[in-house]
Amino acid sequence: MIAVSACLLGYPCKYNGGHNKNQKVLDWLKDKEYICICPESSGGLSSPRTPAEIVGGDGFDVLASKAKVLDKEGNDVSQAFINGAMATLKKAQKHGADTCILKAKSPSCGVGTIYDGTFSGCTKPGFGVAAALLKQNGLKLLTEENLS
Ligand code: SF4
Repeated sequence: MIAVSACLLGYPCKYNGGHNKNQKVLDWLKDKEYICICPESSGGLSSPRTPAEIVGGDGFDVLASKAKVLDKEGNDVSQAFINGAMATLKKAQKHGADTCILKAKSPSCGVGTIYDGTFSGCTKPGFGVAAALLKQNGLKLLTEENLS
């Protein structure tokens, strides 16, 4: 079973009310079983919402209370991201998922690279909050950018 970022499937759950529908991902998923996940929606955040990025570290640091997720207005939304990550892990485990295809660079879903906390489009090494928790629990993580 594969868990896939809902925005990649075309669900309008992005911060701006849009989606990231990706035909390569949809083609890759043909004949495979998958579930959709959106950690930020699962954490109670609405769409549209104020964009947020991780400041002072990455998702592993947020889970360890060493970094924060701040929205562009400076509000601390770390707990919503953590709640969403935990709900996402629970859903993935309930459905027996062992692999995830996650949206690259997102503060929730980013794998190996995330936006750097300056809201400038620049990136830094690291994982999103949900990606970090999924990785800690042994799931294999891919993004739409490194699907083989
Ligand atoms: S990147 Fe992740 S948290 Fe953000 S909209 Fe897509 S699925 Fe939801």
